Amino acid sequence: MAVTPGGAPPGSKTITAGLARATERIVRACQAAGREADSVRLLLATKRQPASAIRAALEAGAGLIGENRVQELAGKGPELASLPHEAHLIGPLQSNKINAALEWAACIETIASLKLAGLLAARANRRAKPVGVMVQVNVSGEPTKSGVHPDQATDLAYQIAQFHSMRLEGFMTVGLNSEDPVAVARCYASLREIRDQVAASGATGTRAATELSMGMSRDLEIAIAEGATIVRLGTAVFGPRDPTP
Ligand SMILES: *Cc1c(COP(=O)(O)O)cnc(C)c1O
Repeated sequence: MAVTPGGAPPGSKTITAGLARATERIVRACQAAGREADSVRLLLATKRQPASAIRAALEAGAGLIGENRVQELAGKGPELASLPHEAHLIGPLQSNKINAALEWAACIETIASLKLAGLLAARANRRAKPVGVMVQVNVSGEPTKSGVHPDQATDLAYQIAQFHSMRLEGFMTVGLNSEDPVAVARCYASLREIRDQVAASGATGTRAATELSMGMSRDLEIAIAEGATIVRLGTAVFGPRDPTP
């Protein structure tokens, strides 16, 4: 990994301390929201972190990781295989990477079209176990963000839920990039409302659709107050990232 002004990859002491701090933030946010501490899972956003740093985090107690790129997921996978953990894809899935994604990810959090869902379902059909998926919703409406429009999210979820080779686990979003906590909270609340509507529908395949993957290092407290079940944290644990893409 290139050394940049950001410095070398974080060492295991930095990571252990970062993980403890992040866990403490989650616990406090749960208390403030009147929620059980174990109702929120910490997903480590491991993009651009070397496998050695991820190993250190898993050895320090992390159990759930997320990669943005299938290439990184597959590249680091073999080095992490001996440590028990669950990996999610939290970035876009290209159709030519579906097989690798299925090999390395237990859940693909970024399904935003029926077309991609159909391709994934066809490949996943050959597997013994259904692959977990979440519908990614662009709740903030920012044009740079991926995800289905909120108005189309429930319909897409109902369609996805019908594929036998996939298990709809919930909804994911990248929150509004804003200093205004009220506006950020409103976006996260809208994802919760989508989840609640689908969960209450009783529609085929929606029973497991309970997850809300939302909140990052800068706003996990707001996300937890609005019902997040998974917060995705990178810098809060590893420190600033190497800025090269
Ligand atoms: C990088 C990333 C995160 C974590 O961001 P931090 O600000 O480092 O906590 C969460 N979700 C997604 C989709 C990401 O790409």
